[in-house]
Amino acid sequence: MKNIYGLKRCDLEEYFLSINEKKFKALQVYEWLYNFRVSSFDEMTNIKKEVREQLKKDFTMEMIEIVKVQEDNLTKKYLFRLKDDNYIEAVLMRHDYGNSVCVSSQVGCNMGCAFCESGRLKKVRDLQTYEIVEQILLIEKELDERISSVVLMGIGEPLDNYDNVLNFIKIINDSKGIAIGARHITLSTCGIIPKIEKLSEENIQINLALSLHAPNDKLRSSIMNVNKVYNISKLIPVIKEYIVKTNRRVTIEYVMLNNVNDSDSCALELAKLLRGMNVYVNLIPYNETNHLEFKKSSKERILKFYDILKKNRINVTIRKEFGSKIDAACGQLRSKEVE
Ligand code: SAH
Repeated sequence: MKNIYGLKRCDLEEYFLSINEKKFKALQVYEWLYNFRVSSFDEMTNIKKEVREQLKKDFTMEMIEIVKVQEDNLTKKYLFRLKDDNYIEAVLMRHDYGNSVCVSSQVGCNMGCAFCESGRLKKVRDLQTYEIVEQILLIEKELDERISSVVLMGIGEPLDNYDNVLNFIKIINDSKGIAIGARHITLSTCGIIPKIEKLSEENIQINLALSLHAPNDKLRSSIMNVNKVYNISKLIPVIKEYIVKTNRRVTIEYVMLNNVNDSDSCALELAKLLRGMNVYVNLIPYNETNHLEFKKSSKERILKFYDILKKNRINVTIRKEFGSKIDAACGQLRSKEVE
């Protein structure tokens, strides 16, 4: 049976037409789900009983479950149990402009980035659309507050679960759904080229972030497996094309790993690589994990790297560190639960 939270409004319209009902019922159901946030079909009182019975036969409203919440003053980390007993996580970050949530898109990850905790468990499966949507719904319920922005930077590679991730984006972006503006949604990818090309055709105004993390192929291949297939020399032209097609600035993520990719010459090489592109670089302080040998770059090193990019006229920011005390980084809570 399908979960109702996995349906776009147009899917629900199609469903109602298929059972010989008017398609505006989709809007009514959407209002119950996302405006009034009811938890059963019986509460949808403007839908006649007979139709509610049919809905109950065709759909479930089952929710995934929050099993653990860890909190510090600016961050809250949620561990969820899925129906098949897999675990995923999401992180809430409080900014002065509102609440943002980082959601997972897969159980485990196959991309194999050497410094990333999420990839320690190979992909078990993709998340279904409803399992991504429900991360948002459950966090809003737990907080009793609205979420204003969403980043797809939790466990998994979103472009390796393309259809479900796109459905998720359309549902939360729907003005009658959770109504999060496209410009407040960021998809982060390690660089699956054919899917970046596909995304550029979708005509949605979301933000794209590319996890680059190295200025040349030799170094990038040594820390990111995906670079052996989709390397920098292929990736950069595709990003340029994406920027032209979508007219959107792209974020380049660069995680600062001590003595790996944080030298002055790496900064210069990066500046050269990105010169003239409509991008901005986000330098990410590495969150050290229990298991892996990578260390974070010192503050001074990050600032020096930042200065070199600035002097070379590259737009650059340093990401504020969130949640390092509560294992909020990238698969750490889940990996404690599973091992
Ligand atoms: N698979 C996607 C999205 C998930 S990871 C991607 O690769 O972009 C989100 C970002 O966090 C990526 O840039 C990833 O490289 C980075 N990251 C992974 N582990 C990290 C850690 N321990 N500290 C800081 N950033 C990390």
